[in-house]
Formats: sequence, C-alpha cells, structure tokens
Amino acid sequence: MPAELRLGMGRAGVLATGLLLAATSSACRSAPPEREATPGVLGATSAEATASAAGAGAGPGSGAALAPAAPDERQLFELERSCMGTRCTIAALHRDRAVVEQAVTRAMAEIDRLDAMMTTWKDSSEVSRINAAAGTGELVALSPETFEVLERSLWIARESEGAFDITIGAFKGLWKFDEDNDGSLPSRASVLARLPLVDYRGLILDPSRRTARLARAGQSITLGGIAKGLIVDHAVAKLRESGLRDFLVQAGGDLFASGRRGDRPWRVGIQDPRAGSGKARSTDTSFALLELEDRACNTSGDYERFVNAGGKRYHHIIDPRTGYPVEHTRSVTVLAPTSFLADTLDTAVFVLGAEKGLRLIARVPGAEAVIVDAKNQVHVSPGLEGRLQLTRPPTDAL
Ligand code: ADP
Ligand code: MG
Repeated sequence: MPAELRLGMGRAGVLATGLLLAATSSACRSAPPEREATPGVLGATSAEATASAAGAGAGPGSGAALAPAAPDERQLFELERSCMGTRCTIAALHRDRAVVEQAVTRAMAEIDRLDAMMTTWKDSSEVSRINAAAGTGELVALSPETFEVLERSLWIARESEGAFDITIGAFKGLWKFDEDNDGSLPSRASVLARLPLVDYRGLILDPSRRTARLARAGQSITLGGIAKGLIVDHAVAKLRESGLRDFLVQAGGDLFASGRRGDRPWRVGIQDPRAGSGKARSTDTSFALLELEDRACNTSGDYERFVNAGGKRYHHIIDPRTGYPVEHTRSVTVLAPTSFLADTLDTAVFVLGAEKGLRLIARVPGAEAVIVDAKNQVHVSPGLEGRLQLTRPPTDAL
C-alpha cells in the first residue's frame, strides 16, 4: 500500500513519512528533465512511513483525506500542485478540507508570483532582465524579494569563499540539467572559455535604490540553488495566515515542517543518494530519519539531475573553481529555522565538501547538516548527534 501512495515523480532528498512527498527541481526552472535512473522516485521509506501510510489512499492532487482522524478530530489532507517546474505537496492537519484547499490556493499564488520574478526560464523575469543587461551599465530595478535573494546570494558567496556563486548561470546552455537536458555534455574548451565569467563580485547591488547589474557582458546569474527556499517560506506564511498550523510543505528537495503531526513531531527520512542502484533493490529509499517541528529540511543531491558518461556522474551542482560538477559529495541535507537559510546552505556545503562544509554550518546559528560524501561516508553536525536515526548505510554505487 505505501508504495502506491507515492505521489508524483521525484528525486526528493527528504521523505516525509506518512505521506511520501515527491520532490525535484527548484525555483527558477521549469519542467524537470526525465533521466536515467530515478533513484529518488519515492516508495515507502521506513516502518514508520509504512505504518502511518497504511489506510491512506488518495490519488495525486485529490486533496482527499489520507489518514484516520487524529485524536483531536483533525484529518490529514494532502494536496499536490505543480509549481516552480516541479511538484509541490502540502499536507495539513485540519478539520475542514475547504479551509486547506483555500489556504493552498493562496500559497500557490504566492509561489507563482515569486517564481515569475526569479526564474531564468522566462525572459520577463527580473533575473532575466539583469542577465540581458549584463555589461551595459543598466541598473535593473527589483522587487524586495528578488533583492533579498541576491543579497543573501552574495553573503553565502563570501562565506563560502566563492563555492556558492550564482554567476554559474554563465554555463546556461552548456551544462544542461534542467528543462534543456538532452543528455549532451559540453566540451572542456567551451567550459573553460566561460569559466572567467563566473565571479560573484561582478554582481553589483545598490540597496538604496534596490537595483542590480552585472559588470561584464556574458555574465549571467541563476537562483536555482537558493530561491526556492525563500519561496517556500512565503508559502508557509500564507498557509499560516490562512489558519493552518500543523502542516508540511515540500517543493523539490525543500521541505518545511510546521507544528506537529498531532501528538508528535513530523518525521522525515533522508533520501539514500544511490537508492535503487545497488544490487538489492528496496522500496526503502531513506537511510536516516529525523523528527522536525517548525523547521526546514532541504537536500541537495547529485542524483537529482544528472548524466552518467564514461564512468562518471555529471550533475547540476557545479564547482565554480573548475566549471565542472562537484565530485566529492553525493548529498547534503541542511536543517535550519527557515527554508531560505537551509536552501542557501545546502548547495554551498555540497560544493565545499564535508570538512569545510561542516565548519560553515558550525558558524551559522540554528543550522545542522548531514552529508554523504563520495566515499559514501555519512558526516553529521554535532547538534544532530542523538537526534538523527541512521537506519542503514547509504547504498554505494557510482
Ligand atoms: P535543488 O535541485 O533542490 O534545487 P539545490 O538547492 O542544490 O537543489 O540547487 C541546485 C541548483 O543550484 C542548480 O540547478 C543550479 O541552478 C544552482 N547551482 C549549481 N551549482 C551552484 C553553485 N556552485 N553556486 C550556486 N548555485 C549553483
Ligand atoms: Mg540550495
């Protein structure tokens, strides 16, 4: 039964137990590509997931009740929508389905509003206008939200010594892991030719006028590694304003758990980055479990968007120092008080790798991380010790 409860296709990093929230993609992208091996397609994850999913039976997008009434007479409603080029799933405990549906409609409108500003897949977005004006000196006026994401992008770029750098947008059309994914890989010469354009110091912000410009022609930014977190936080705020308190929002690898699942915290599983690629194919695709209450849990993985070629995995997280996909990390899960902070950190830690990444996490109050490195070792920040339940070693494969 739980396997049938899988909602949508996805490559989640976090599996919400009790309802298997699918995941992919980020803000600023449209339809995610199909790819070989979809280890993230979510099946049942754990005994807990299995148990709590039993008895449920809603189809995608139905909004039907998924679980028997909790002791407080609320039901768990789960709604699924397309947004930000991926599936967004919202599960909420409430007495009244109409209230949940109305709240979700408001949240989705907010997501669409912000996505339209920050995507690079529409020429009309604020981000696309910054890119189109690169090198011309034109100052592009921005909404407060886009400006906030750009300021945060520069903060994390400095904190990570350039490991996180939104000007990797310069590789658009070369590394193709988004809706443009056709399985092709760029030549080394073409990557190296664009590499000098990658430099976050070329993004010039003016807080007093709330404008941005890119210093050099050919420079380009992408907010794929950071915007979805802010957008999820806005969706959470809308859901709360609409009267919901206990709910989960999942958009791609970003998950926010608000309140509790009745008498206990929400439980989520962390995706095994190579689940499904080992010999033993299992429906259990998580390797660790966590309890969350009013917390974000975001995952970046090399299994989300990738191409395997010549015994190597090429994926969507690029090391700005080399211009090539990061090889030393398989997945990074970050817990933080907000989804924006978690999304800001997960991609940066992925590029930094376990050692430097955990040092960054230690400097950021409220942040915790679980990292699976290329040797399949699991690294956990000290604050999670005793809280993270490792259920089995992650699968080891290319
Ligand atoms: P998700 O796949 O859930 O969006 P991430 O938060 O890790 O996961 O974002 C990955 C996206 O971040 C990529 O698709 C790309 O747009 C962007 N990105 C890749 N490498 C970097 C980098 N070094 N710095 C900033 N952004 C990056
Ligand atoms: Mg991120």
